[in-house]
Amino acid sequence: MDDEQRAGVADLENDGVLASDLVAGGKLVGRVGADEVLLARSGDRVLAIGARCTHQGGPLVDGLVVGDTVRCPWHHACFSLENGDAACAPALDPVDAWNVKEVDGRLFVAGKKERVQPAPVDGAPARVVIVGAGPAGNACAEMLRREGYAGTITLIGAEYALPYDRPKLSKEYLAGTADDHALPLRPREFYSQKRIELFVGARVTNVDLKQRQVITDNGRMRGFDALVLATGAAPNKLTIHGHDQPHVLYLRSVADSRVLSARAANAKSIVILGASFIGLEVAASLRRRGLEVHVVAPSQRPLGKVLGPALGDWVRALHEKEGVHFHLGDEAGVIQPDKVYTRGGEQLAADLVVVAMGVKPVVTLAEQMGLSLAQDGVAVDEYLESSVPGVYAIGDLAAYKDASGERARIEHFAVAERQGQTAARNILGNKTPFRAVPFFWSSHYDATISYVGHAASWDAADVVGDLAANDAAVVYRKKGKLLAVATVNRDALSLAVEAAMERGEDPSALLA
Ligand code: FAD
Repeated sequence: MDDEQRAGVADLENDGVLASDLVAGGKLVGRVGADEVLLARSGDRVLAIGARCTHQGGPLVDGLVVGDTVRCPWHHACFSLENGDAACAPALDPVDAWNVKEVDGRLFVAGKKERVQPAPVDGAPARVVIVGAGPAGNACAEMLRREGYAGTITLIGAEYALPYDRPKLSKEYLAGTADDHALPLRPREFYSQKRIELFVGARVTNVDLKQRQVITDNGRMRGFDALVLATGAAPNKLTIHGHDQPHVLYLRSVADSRVLSARAANAKSIVILGASFIGLEVAASLRRRGLEVHVVAPSQRPLGKVLGPALGDWVRALHEKEGVHFHLGDEAGVIQPDKVYTRGGEQLAADLVVVAMGVKPVVTLAEQMGLSLAQDGVAVDEYLESSVPGVYAIGDLAAYKDASGERARIEHFAVAERQGQTAARNILGNKTPFRAVPFFWSSHYDATISYVGHAASWDAADVVGDLAANDAAVVYRKKGKLLAVATVNRDALSLAVEAAMERGEDPSALLA
């Protein structure tokens, strides 16, 4: 907090605030010394924790109190109001928690609470191996330690990188507003401090279920008592004429993003094949860097299948305003070193081509192990355990049973992390079903779409509010049942819908 900010908010330590100012579920921000502190009423108690989300600094005062937690408006992380714990991803670190006392109708914040260390767990498997060091695998390893697990944890990742924030690859990192330092989820020392054995640049090539050991391509061998597969997904490949030329690129890994970023520095024009979230985020980031951007996709509107006609048209208008050219209802036919010929007969200048046509889960090991598969991924139960006891699958890879008993495979960052956390608890014997309501966000220029729920298909996508004014929700229903809600600039609504869905309630009343 700087001096100017400090002057504008209540001094909670010395002056306090009127207790009657905080109604049920109410929140306010004050300060204790230089710290920004959130005061929130949960039931009949008032609790105080750090005011900023540890994921990306979102203001918790604009979030939602749900039970004894507060949710961040930006990416739906949540924190315990009692002790500041990061109760759900994408936040991984806690915030401070403070003592509150009431004197003569005024609330004062008096000193930080001590963090309680977890009690050691008994009876857990002695060795856990996690294959795949993306957000899901990383969150699983961390949660094992947070829960007091004292056994051996080995986290093995094929990429030459510490576990990192993949969503930034198509956004800040590609746009050039974030550098390499902004990517890792944790510094290297974190893993040694937490006694997590981390191998990067090591691909597991074999899992021996009888011997209970994994083998990597660089000759490492590790035994396990519980195994977690977190191998994620890989981009669908192009097969048309010219697909194998050096200027045809994909975007999944940090290495991909580095290559794309470096090549973009010397390019004038780019053709993006696919109007997917990633394709459009690449379009936005490279428009920011001044490239001429063409998007070619077979659909009639960008993201129309996922987001529906109104939001699809809104996304298109947003990008067209920024100078992106769309070639919809068309697809690439032939790629030449400097151009793309579309099947519809267009000829588009292309120093670079980015293929963004969706992903497929990486099931090589799962197939080799004979695990049951579903929805292109690994079939797991509500506890994220596969058809082989003691073997779990999480993240983009996992096709899990949701609260309604339907199978879902979700490709969202927060879901991947939350599944990692749930799998960790289940390895320790907790039997926690994975019940988090799916949530993702996607950013284009200064606009962000937030989406809660999961509508694999829908028959109605109704707009509430005013999309043209960037202030709306789109409600997806199938046979009258509300499945998902996408919002633009309605973060509080998005959180309220998520909370209602968690309680198993229909959030329609919030959308009237
Ligand atoms: P991954 O992140 O794919 O990680 C799996 C890891 O396992 C990889 O590093 C892979 O190399 C490794 N691996 C595979 N096989 C092996 C093996 N045999 N041995 C060892 N390691 C192996 N989601 C959102 O909600 N919001 C966003 O804004 C958003 N933006 C995105 C932007 C981009 C560019 C991309 C690519 C994705 C984005 N996503 C976003 C999706 C989100 O990042 C994924 O859902 C998430 O990364 C999935 O996590 P995961 O750990 O399951 O898999």
